[in-house]
Amino acid sequence: MVLQWRDKKTLKMLSTIHNAELVSVESRKSTTKQKPKVVVDYNRSMGGVGKSDQCLSYYPSTRSRQRKYYKKIFGHLLDQAVWNAFVLYKKNGGDLKHVAFRMKLIERLCEEGRGLPSSKVPKSIENVARLTGRHFPSLVTSTGNKKYSARKCAVCCSKTNGNGKRVRRETRFECEVCNVGLCAAPCFQIYHTQSVF
Ligand SMILES: [Zn+2]
Ligand SMILES: [Zn+2]
Repeated sequence: MVLQWRDKKTLKMLSTIHNAELVSVESRKSTTKQKPKVVVDYNRSMGGVGKSDQCLSYYPSTRSRQRKYYKKIFGHLLDQAVWNAFVLYKKNGGDLKHVAFRMKLIERLCEEGRGLPSSKVPKSIENVARLTGRHFPSLVTSTGNKKYSARKCAVCCSKTNGNGKRVRRETRFECEVCNVGLCAAPCFQIYHTQSVF
């Protein structure tokens, strides 16, 4: 619900739980006035909003010089959603600090991203999943009637040899989570511990 209300000054409200319902409130001269419920609720819980705005300001998800206004709004809503999740987490007895909570959330979101085709996953997210996950080598599953299957090693094939040509090396091992072929040693370890190899 988006609402604009002219009191002493113009207020713009955005809420996911209100409608444009009006409620009667007592004003100073013991007369009653009609006000939108969203404005009344906001004023009643201003303390909480102030605190959330303060805490959010430590972790701005949008760059301050963001030119597209709708990206700014999106960033703010995202920040707010993260903060709300943190408040609920605390209410349910969570003991992580705010920063640790945010890191955990990032890790989890990265794990979600693993299901995407690798072309859709941003490099930075792919790196976190690759470097923090629990991954184990497995044999490349054979296709067709070949006894053994092999695929290109992602580490070896990222290098060039002395003549400036791409190295080609095949391996029978792969990481199923990352969906890449890797020599069991040393490439499997290199791939999962070095952000650049
Ligand atoms: Zn290799
Ligand atoms: Zn992996």
